[in-house]
Amino acid sequence: MAEVDKEFKFIKKGKYDVSNKIFLDLVFNNNCNYSCPFCIARTNTYSEDNYDKWKSSFSKTIDIFGNEIDSLIILGGEATIDKRFFDRLSFIDEVTSGKHIFTILTTNGYKLQSDSFLDKVGNSSIDSFNISMMNHDPLKNKLLMGDTIDIDSLKRIYEVIKEYGKTLRLNTNVAKNNLNSLKEIEDYIRFFKGCQDAIKFTPLMETDMFDTVSGVLKYTKEKALSKEEIKVLFDSLARKYKSSKHNDKVFGLINYGEVDALGSHIILKYEQVEDMYDLGRVIPTLKLYPNGNLSNEWNHRKNILDDFSSNKVYEFKSR
Ligand code: SF4
Repeated sequence: MAEVDKEFKFIKKGKYDVSNKIFLDLVFNNNCNYSCPFCIARTNTYSEDNYDKWKSSFSKTIDIFGNEIDSLIILGGEATIDKRFFDRLSFIDEVTSGKHIFTILTTNGYKLQSDSFLDKVGNSSIDSFNISMMNHDPLKNKLLMGDTIDIDSLKRIYEVIKEYGKTLRLNTNVAKNNLNSLKEIEDYIRFFKGCQDAIKFTPLMETDMFDTVSGVLKYTKEKALSKEEIKVLFDSLARKYKSSKHNDKVFGLINYGEVDALGSHIILKYEQVEDMYDLGRVIPTLKLYPNGNLSNEWNHRKNILDDFSSNKVYEFKSR
């Protein structure tokens, strides 16, 4: 199970154990043009936007962790509606130039329906796109997300993304009211065949994120399946389509399975592996907020940048 985990090494930097593979989430904004009832970006407080501090924090983060950062993951809210979306992208390009850090944009796909927007992101350093598409039934999808792009738009987006040599993954969640049976999951995979490079199924989790609004807490509490139910569902998919690629992995602090089913590459997020490490100290994921604070958790008020120094030499050790 811990095949991928073995590749992780840790060092001590300041008061934290820092992994040799860090996933840096770049939270561009907190707002969105959709209205998913489970959205963790819907918070009681808005993270203020301080672009100058964001730029200096991003440069400092790359300066300190540049060699350890495995991927940049651009998030929101909906990052593409941020008024500084392309400014931020250009700044990221400038600072990471020559470092070849894999960059992923997570989006609801709405803006990608515009050809000019699609060409601009196609020409940017984004390597891969994660598009959220909850259900294959457009009406159900609209009910779950508040809005949706249609299958023809998705096909067009995929076509252009492939022309630019990039990849597209669909993200969805599994819950009591969405894709909660093997048949529904198979129908979803069949429907989106040919317009994605991978599909990731994530259980809707009872969220206890910092500042998330009470409506989201209530919704996720009501609709989340139990860990056991998820395991039974995902294991039945993995058993049915078992291929040479099927494997349970620990990726960061998350347990993943992969399987090829119905001609698509499927990623199954099982659960958070909470007992592996002391979560307060280990850093595989960092989050940079629009206010310029860098945090190792979903808390935009905390800034841990000052706990690190860029001019020290550290030695990695296997864990
Ligand atoms: S599309 Fe994403 S950011 Fe927008 S409301 Fe839904 S979950 Fe939240």
